[in-house]
Amino acid sequence: MSLVIQENVNLSSMNTFGVEAQARYFIRFSSKEELIEVFQKSVFDVPVKKENKVTRNASTKLPFLCLGEGSNILFVQPFSGVVLKNEIRGLEILKQTAESVSLKVGAGENWHKFVLHCVQQNWGGVENLSLIPGTVGAAPIQNIGAYGVEVQDVIEAVEIYDIEQKKFLILSKEECQFSYRDSIFKREGRGRWIITSVNFTLSKKPILRTHYGAIEIELKNQGISHPTIKDISDTVIKIRRSKLPDPKELGNAGSFFKNPVVTADFYSSLKQAHPQIIAYPEASGQYKIAAAWCIEQCGFKGWRQGACGVHSQQALVLVNYGTATGNEILALSERIRTKVFETFQIQLETEVQVIS
Ligand SMILES: Cc1cc2nc3c(=O)[nH]c(=O)nc-3n(C[C@H](O)[C@H](O)[C@H](O)COP(=O)(O)OP(=O)(O)OC[C@H]3O[C@@H](n4cnc5c(N)ncnc54)[C@H](O)[C@@H]3O)c2cc1C
Repeated sequence: MSLVIQENVNLSSMNTFGVEAQARYFIRFSSKEELIEVFQKSVFDVPVKKENKVTRNASTKLPFLCLGEGSNILFVQPFSGVVLKNEIRGLEILKQTAESVSLKVGAGENWHKFVLHCVQQNWGGVENLSLIPGTVGAAPIQNIGAYGVEVQDVIEAVEIYDIEQKKFLILSKEECQFSYRDSIFKREGRGRWIITSVNFTLSKKPILRTHYGAIEIELKNQGISHPTIKDISDTVIKIRRSKLPDPKELGNAGSFFKNPVVTADFYSSLKQAHPQIIAYPEASGQYKIAAAWCIEQCGFKGWRQGACGVHSQQALVLVNYGTATGNEILALSERIRTKVFETFQIQLETEVQVIS
């Protein structure tokens, strides 16, 4: 094994916003063995300086950033630590019955390719999550979701490498503490755990979920009354292509903000002040407010500020028209947050990981 340590690597083609950013050090790894080797590298050790003198044998550790396909991050300055590009691949069938199939999938696999493979095999559960960019390993981090499905619905366990204990651990689904666009990986695991593989259980007798968003209408338009898994996947792909900008053509990272979840009392006061407000009741009794609607009401849909702006069809998506910097995009997001707060007293939370 010979890991290559690159220095001062340009990351602009490795983030879907397409913003300029540099990694002080950059290492690709494609197996668990290579990952162990990565953390034995002295590149992480920074000699401690006291009164401008380097203290012998004393060092601190450089931070690391595990990078998937860069579709949920915004770089706002050069990353002064070590960027680790996860390229662990592979799909293994662990168990199969007449009802279900259990799989272990390498964290560096492309999510959409994995979905297409499942669709082709007629394994149900991830078809509504078609065309979401990124890697399998990043999917549990924000519990990716779309069209009424979240990845937690099909996850059994997640394998991680804990850099402090220097060992691999398996987290059960419960231990991952999944919730709306959130998990333990965004909290305790941040800067400490690297996801190496994810175990899924998919159904051979799936229950299709067609009631969310425009799926049902689109199927009807196509004259499909008894859809297959492939019909759902094709329909989701079609809807997403018509609504969301392709990062290859227009830099973006999908939804920049989460949909805020508020109490029933607060929702009722919002509804009085803004009768048109769009919200969805949650099982908890709370309400999920459509952040895109709030942003649109504040006049930002299609707004452009220099080289960045808000997408003309989807107000949750901030876009880079070509030369925007991470800081310009962040400044626009702050402007939106301030205006939404002034108008609705709602504090928008960022879904995209801002790397500073
Ligand atoms: C056009 C578009 C549409 C999108 N639509 C959706 C959608 O419908 N639903 C949705 O939920 N998301 C959506 N997203 C967001 C994004 O696709 C997901 O969050 C995806 O899971 C990010 O994967 P990635 O490999 O690109 O992660 P990256 O952007 O590379 O990383 C994201 C974060 O995860 C960390 N990370 C990545 N891999 C690992 C690992 N193996 N171990 C530890 N930490 C890791 C990174 O350090 C970073 O903090 C969309 C994005 C785009 C550009």
